[in-house]
Amino acid sequence: MAIDMQDAELRNARPDQTPSDGPGRQPGSPRLGMSTQAVHAGEQRQKAEGSISTPTFSASTFTFESTAALMKYVEGDDERQEYGRYGNPNEKSVEQKLAALEGAESAILYSSGMAAIVGLLMSRLNSGDEVIFFDQCYHRSREFCVKHLARFGVKTHQVKTGDFEAMEAVINPRTRMLISESPTNPHLTSIDIEQFAALGKAYEVETLIDATLATPYNIRPIEFGVDYVLHSATKYLGGHNDLLAGVICGTAEKLEPVRQLRGILGSVNSPQNLYLLERGLKTFALRMQRHNENGLAIAEFLESHPRVDRVYYPGLTSHPSHRVAATQMSGFGGLVTFTVRDADWRQTSRIIDAVKIPRIAPSLGGVESLIEQPLVMSYFGYSPEDRERFGIFDNMIRMACGIEDAADLIADLTQAFEAISGD
Ligand SMILES: *Cc1c(COP(=O)(O)O)cnc(C)c1O
Repeated sequence: MAIDMQDAELRNARPDQTPSDGPGRQPGSPRLGMSTQAVHAGEQRQKAEGSISTPTFSASTFTFESTAALMKYVEGDDERQEYGRYGNPNEKSVEQKLAALEGAESAILYSSGMAAIVGLLMSRLNSGDEVIFFDQCYHRSREFCVKHLARFGVKTHQVKTGDFEAMEAVINPRTRMLISESPTNPHLTSIDIEQFAALGKAYEVETLIDATLATPYNIRPIEFGVDYVLHSATKYLGGHNDLLAGVICGTAEKLEPVRQLRGILGSVNSPQNLYLLERGLKTFALRMQRHNENGLAIAEFLESHPRVDRVYYPGLTSHPSHRVAATQMSGFGGLVTFTVRDADWRQTSRIIDAVKIPRIAPSLGGVESLIEQPLVMSYFGYSPEDRERFGIFDNMIRMACGIEDAADLIADLTQAFEAISGD
């Protein structure tokens, strides 16, 4: 029972959960479920002044009472804070909570998801190295590799998402990392993570999964042998559309040099931001349960609607990678993408303008539902050929289901479709 557990035990406990078991505590298991972890992991049982929540340490620097105390620290005999760019107490507790949720040894927080991917790749790659990406991915991750890593002599290969033969074919002695999202944004394609990790191991190449859309509630890639798991904590982990943060999880050994470089890059979070993230994480498991329910309910509604052409949702048997998703995930998240039947971009935008509950905005994973037309939101500057190549269609809508009542979201979408019924 959590109540009887010693502080250290709780802090270090990992949820005992294999992917197919689903979230939560296993009957008879001495380990803790994901919701208990979300509330308690990483935190001291007894905090300063008896405060139940982690106090916000609003400090850019940390004082030493004497030269002797400083000597003790520089000689490595005192684990404490020194200067905010290298860490702060709020960061430490959130990192431990995230590592526990992910089933990882260690976690490093960054000021955004992009800062996390940049921080990891800058640490691991040298001039002359190569990385291989599955091509459906967050457009800024792709842009960083193709446009910017190239300036430092790093070559990026992109292969079709899920095509392991194509990925294997471009692995060569210069390959340092295999990178994929799962599920991908906005097509929600799941890749076989076990196969992905095994391919990396076979060639001694590191593997990175951006699992932002799945979260550790739905999949924990480290259990499949992946080296690094990345999340934009801006999305489900923070969960309230009120902060930006990113995290990388992995072994302490692999993450050590990454942390050293982060201290130089300086892409860290303020203590106030970390407090918000810790607070958001308390309800992580509860929120994910609702995001999963809403995502599935909306996807099923859309699939049965006459004005909808195609729905991309990993929980639907119609999704090409549904079988992969169903075997490795315990839920499918809140993001649903669909195309509108017989609609050009303008008619599609009229649906977006007609909905009353979801707000028009980029991002996902917060309590508020958001809706967007990828063509306009993220791919406006792309040529029609490139949009075609990336599978971004004019009549595509991406909806990030929040935690509102599914019936209200369905009623809202219903009236929005009626609004274009004359078109
Ligand atoms: C949002 C997002 C990112 C970038 O994260 P930021 O916190 O916005 O920097 C990376 N990958 C995926 C899959 C995302 O959805």
